[in-house]
Amino acid sequence: MLSRIAEKYTPALLVGGIVFSAAVMGIYSRHFGQLAQIWPANALLLWIMITYRQLDRLSGWLGACVGYLLAGWIMGDRFLINVWLGTANLAGVCAGYLLFGIFRKDGNGLIGPKSVLSLLLVCSGAAAASASVGTLLAMTLPGTTAWSRFILWFSSELNRHLVLLPVCFSGREWFSRQTFYQWRQIFALRKMNIAPVTSLVISVVLATITGGPGAIAFPVPALLWCALSYTVLPLCLIVLIFNVAVMGIVEAGFLNFGQMYPHLGGIVSFRLGLSFLVLGPLTVTAIMTTQRALVDRLNQSITWDSLTKVLSRQAYLEQSQSFIESKRKKSALGIAVLMLDIDQFKRINDTYGHFVGDNTLEAVAKAISDILSDDQICGRLGGEEFAITISVERGEEATCLAEKIRLSVEKILIPVNGDTFIHMTVSIGVAFQLFTDDVKFRVLLAQADVALYQAKANGRNRVALSSTVLEKQERPAVHLS
Ligand code: GH3
Ligand code: MG
Ligand code: MG
Repeated sequence: MLSRIAEKYTPALLVGGIVFSAAVMGIYSRHFGQLAQIWPANALLLWIMITYRQLDRLSGWLGACVGYLLAGWIMGDRFLINVWLGTANLAGVCAGYLLFGIFRKDGNGLIGPKSVLSLLLVCSGAAAASASVGTLLAMTLPGTTAWSRFILWFSSELNRHLVLLPVCFSGREWFSRQTFYQWRQIFALRKMNIAPVTSLVISVVLATITGGPGAIAFPVPALLWCALSYTVLPLCLIVLIFNVAVMGIVEAGFLNFGQMYPHLGGIVSFRLGLSFLVLGPLTVTAIMTTQRALVDRLNQSITWDSLTKVLSRQAYLEQSQSFIESKRKKSALGIAVLMLDIDQFKRINDTYGHFVGDNTLEAVAKAISDILSDDQICGRLGGEEFAITISVERGEEATCLAEKIRLSVEKILIPVNGDTFIHMTVSIGVAFQLFTDDVKFRVLLAQADVALYQAKANGRNRVALSSTVLEKQERPAVHLS
């Protein structure tokens, strides 16, 4: 019963509360009876309804209506003015909502090169709708002409939507990805590249000092630099702060683009120019996001073997090489390489098919990975061959680990045809060198390969230590299985 009531009224309370708070903040920013300077309520409501399906209900929309009206009433707006503004605001949000459904069916915000274009269409539609309704309802009011009301309303609404919606979209994406560790990274300012944002501040100061019609374009290079340097959320926040700061500087009269005030055309032109100016960095960051995601995926597929989820051959060779260099500096005693090959694997493929063969490879790789610690490197060299690089003090440690892996693989059972299971075994060649012998990774690999052949020749399902190690130890060969 209680949960049903909560389910029914939560959207209304949440949406109403957010709209109310944002509207009160907006009303506070009104100057001398003009429209609000800061009005985040519409863009916020649009984003909530697009993003949170559980709030996009009739009760949520009703909550929004109440939020708008309550804010106006508390802040002392006359009833008719309150209804007029509320209707215009809701008309804009509804138009944006419908247009978003048409242009961005995937529900994503700023991802992909075309996202900014569709964002512009959505924001323009929302701004045009609220400006039209607002102008129509105010036809009877004295003062400025209908066109001047419309264009003033449209330009400020477009600007707010264009700078606020990207922050909402990228903010949600960012918050959903964060782990505690990354939270701490926000404060690691030392690592942050502040040059692009500093150049933006300098360019705004230069524009303020110089003034004139070209000054609005001064920050373009710095904005593009920011877009190329930062990820989406910081960039969208920078664009928002930049937008608010430039609006404030112009409003305060510090920056004049030449005879701008008190002409209405000048104000509208400035607002539209500023809105279109931020489209550049937003487009760049949207493209960069797609590019970064592609590069990440490419790196993933180069680094990891897609079937067995251990390192690919190339990544294994590279990581082993740098692993040895790092251990050499820390003067660990020695390095061992284990080379594994599944015994009679072709038979499994030939008898049960390649799909079962693939399952076998996955199971063996998992058995190996479960045994290894984070500091031990494992890769698939190709086919049914794997290699492991570890740092150990003696060769025996490496053969013990190899034996553990061999026994673990022996226990694997792959089910086929209901109650039939496949067993499998591995042969492992082990090579070991002390750092005092000047470890060469390629030499170790070759020695492990020779030892693997020995294990195969001696009957498979066994571990063989490289003869080079054995000669150094001046001991006869040992059979571990
Ligand atoms: P040995 O004990 O001497 O190692 O015999 P083997 O049958 O394991 O060795 P062989 O080199 O004759 O066969 C390896 C087989 O591995 C041949 C190839 O078809 C199969 N293979 C290679 N890569 C894959 C893969 O990704 N999936 C599957 N299912 N089979 C693979
Ligand atoms: Mg093989
Ligand atoms: Mg084999």
